[in-house]
Amino acid sequence: MRIDIATLFPAMCEAVLSESIVGRGRKNGFVTIECHNIRDYTLDKHRRVDDKAYGGGTGMVMQPQPVYDCICAIKEKAGMESSRLIYLSPQGRTLTQDLVKELAQEQHLILLCGHYEGIDQRVLDELNAEEISVGDYVVTGGELPALIIADAVTRLQSGVLPNEDAYSIESHYNGVLEYPQYTRPEVWRGRSVPEILLSGHHENIEKWQKEQAEEVTRRKRPDMLESE
Ligand code: SAM
Repeated sequence: MRIDIATLFPAMCEAVLSESIVGRGRKNGFVTIECHNIRDYTLDKHRRVDDKAYGGGTGMVMQPQPVYDCICAIKEKAGMESSRLIYLSPQGRTLTQDLVKELAQEQHLILLCGHYEGIDQRVLDELNAEEISVGDYVVTGGELPALIIADAVTRLQSGVLPNEDAYSIESHYNGVLEYPQYTRPEVWRGRSVPEILLSGHHENIEKWQKEQAEEVTRRKRPDMLESE
C-alpha cells in the first residue's frame, strides 16, 4: 500500500511516521509513505499558499493552485491505477475502525491536510475530494488527523504487526472493546492479577477474556452493544 500526505508541515508528519511500529513498517517495505510540501508547488514568487477569505472574516484560506498542482504531481509520481483522495475535515464522515478497515484495502491513499480556515472549496470540488473527520472538534491543521489515519491503516497491513491477532482482538475491531490486560509482577500494591490468567488453561482463559470484553463494553460503551 502507498500513502501520500499533502501538507504545509511535512517535517511534522515525517517525525511521527519515522518512529515505532509505523517507522519499522516503512523501513521493512510493508507500506510506502511519502510527505509532500504543498508550498513547493506555489507559483507565487513569495512562496505564499494562502490569502484572505472572500466575504471577509478572520483567518486565511489555502489557495487552489498549489493544492491542485501538488495532488496532480503526487498522482503522476505514484502512477497508480486508482487513488482515493481524502481531505481531512471536521465536516467529514467520522473515522471509525470499520472505515479504517475499508481504507486499509486501498492501493493508494492521498491525505490532504488543510490549515488556517481550510482550503478553497473549488479545488476540493475539482479533485472530488472525500472528507473524513477524526471527531466533532476542531484542531489547527489536518496533520494530526492524517497521521491518525496513516497509523491506523498501516498497522492493518500484512507484516506490520506480528500476526492478525495483534489487531483483530483489539477494541472496535469486532464491535466490542478489549478485555483488561495484565503483566508482571503478579501482585502490585496489593492488587493481584486475576487467578484465571495464571492457570495456563487456554480454553478457560479465552472464555474469561470474551466475558470480560462484553462486560467492559457494557460498562464503558453500552451504545456499541445497542447498535448491533
Ligand atoms: N474552518 C474550518 C471549519 O470550520 O470547518 C476548520 C478549519 S481547521 C482550523 C484547519 C484544518 O484542520 C482543516 O482544513 C482540516 O484539514 C483540519 N481539521 C480540523 N479539525 C479536524 C477534524 N476534526 N478532523 C479532520 N481534520 C480536521
